[in-house]
Amino acid sequence: MKISFVIPVYNEEKGFSQFYEKMLLPELKKLNYDYELILVNDGSTDKSLQIIQKISEKDNHVKVLCFSRNFGKEVALTAGIREAAGDAILTMDADGQQPPKLIHEFIKKWEEGGEIIIGVRGRYEKHGLIAKIGSKLFYKILGMMGVKDTVPGSTDFRIIDRCVADEYNKLTEHGRITRGLMDWMGFKKVYIDYIYGNRLAGKPSYNFKKLFQLAIDSFVSLSSAPLIIFGWIGVFITVASLILGIFVIIEEFIMGDPMQLKWTGTTCLSIFITFLIGLVLISQSIIALYISHIHAEAQGRPLYIIDHKNSRNLNERKAKKAKESTSS
Ligand code: UDP
Ligand code: MG
Repeated sequence: MKISFVIPVYNEEKGFSQFYEKMLLPELKKLNYDYELILVNDGSTDKSLQIIQKISEKDNHVKVLCFSRNFGKEVALTAGIREAAGDAILTMDADGQQPPKLIHEFIKKWEEGGEIIIGVRGRYEKHGLIAKIGSKLFYKILGMMGVKDTVPGSTDFRIIDRCVADEYNKLTEHGRITRGLMDWMGFKKVYIDYIYGNRLAGKPSYNFKKLFQLAIDSFVSLSSAPLIIFGWIGVFITVASLILGIFVIIEEFIMGDPMQLKWTGTTCLSIFITFLIGLVLISQSIIALYISHIHAEAQGRPLYIIDHKNSRNLNERKAKKAKESTSS
């Protein structure tokens, strides 16, 4: 049995050696499993690459996967998971904020049968007000959009079983949030609370702009609710202006203005224009829904994901096994 560790590295020259030698390596040595450590250099512009290459020269467990430029953490994680050969794959950050001491607890939960073991931060932590509000709002909106499977504070500090990785590797979409995709995939999830530490060195590369982009990506890739919201606003405007219009026609022109409201031509015109704006919003939302269907098709996600561990005697698997035994 083997465990793969996948760590994305982007401009971590100041803290990485310390993280590896003082925090990670002592824990890796305690493992009862064979392991590999896949370091994905995500186009670092500092000396990170040289540092991790040097480590890999000294230690055969360490593999370096180097991107030609910065593709972002989500893609780096994906590349690492695709490269991993272990029976379980643990992903974590390179900056020491996710305590390597906990890997044993993660592995234990995996041994007990968990298929995705997720580190959850925040329950014991103090946050800045803006971060707190931002994160609350994010999960609230996600929940309102119908994405209920995401536990607030879930991080990329997690172990996935081989069966999850195999299915994950089949997903081909580009705008991806690793966490969101795994939540979508299902499987048996176990949560472990932990306290997000301080960075060993350097600055976090996720600034407000990047985080905002990540939030937008999550919303767009996980739900088409924003499109529908504008459709409903359109319906509201149309219905409200229609009712008002009918009221004006009856009150002014049929009953001869008994309420003395003295509607002018301009008000009638405004009501009519508002009615048309409502219609435009509705039709735009309908077009957007068609586009969202095209988007879903273009993402090319599988229709369903089979839990192969728990399925029995499937023809597809039998054929594969037979093929394997004849070729070996
Ligand atoms: N990272 C990466 N590519 C990027 C940005 C970050 O591979 O474009 C890595 C980074 O080296 C670290 C992890 O992703 O290992 C988390 O990044 P960071 O600490 O900046 O984010 P935060 O702690 O705010 O989640
Ligand atoms: Mg960090």
